[in-house]
Amino acid sequence: MLSMSIPLAERLRPRTLDEYIGQAHLVGQNGVFRKFLETGNVPSFILWGPPGVGKTTLARIVATQLERPFFTLSAVTSGVKDVREVIESARKQRFFDQKAPLLFIDEIHRLSPIVEEYLYSAMEDYKIDIVLDKGPSARSIQIELAPFTLIGATTRSGLLTSPLRARFGIQCHLEYYDAPVLAGIVRRSARILDVSIDDDAAHEVALRSRGTPRIANALLRRVRDFAMVK
Ligand code: ADP
Repeated sequence: MLSMSIPLAERLRPRTLDEYIGQAHLVGQNGVFRKFLETGNVPSFILWGPPGVGKTTLARIVATQLERPFFTLSAVTSGVKDVREVIESARKQRFFDQKAPLLFIDEIHRLSPIVEEYLYSAMEDYKIDIVLDKGPSARSIQIELAPFTLIGATTRSGLLTSPLRARFGIQCHLEYYDAPVLAGIVRRSARILDVSIDDDAAHEVALRSRGTPRIANALLRRVRDFAMVK
């Protein structure tokens, strides 16, 4: 049973592939995500699709089900220093539990060119350069990284540079959800929120959610609040 102190959005987020509704081409019986979980073999991959369709959720599911440490970074706000810190923590973590960490970078098309360059060497030979000291005594050393898996999420796959795109094994496209599938997500969320909703009402919420689970969940909460006040 999940504690009530966990934020609502987190309580609604599916934790396993079986709880994840829709996107059958990725999570269905022959989907690539089933293969990831069956084999434990996860190459670096890109998730692309509109906001709120479940990219972060899928990445977290892989980490949870394979019990791999999960680190996140936003490409919008992160510089080389942030990336280096995260990679360094991932390296330490790996040292302790021997499991290759997953590093999730949101809006990866917005990485600065410098950070992108930096990531290339980290991804390719698991090495990064670190500059020690400043001024005339500054020198650069290379440190070895333990293998990690990079997951890049993007809403604009067309804006990925070709060198970056080429470094990922797989690109997974998430699509908008059709109404019957979204209605299923609404019913699941209603159960977690402990509110009853009939099938027609779930369908009406789904129709107004622009194919997006995040919007469906927000609408459901609004409808619930309205119904409670009235
Ligand atoms: P993105 O990373 O694509 O912006 P998220 O993974 O953060 O989207 O998903 C937004 C919310 O929508 C999640 O908190 C989750 O509750 C819900 N959600 C997304 N995809 C699904 C799904 N396939 N099944 C059920 N709920 C989903």
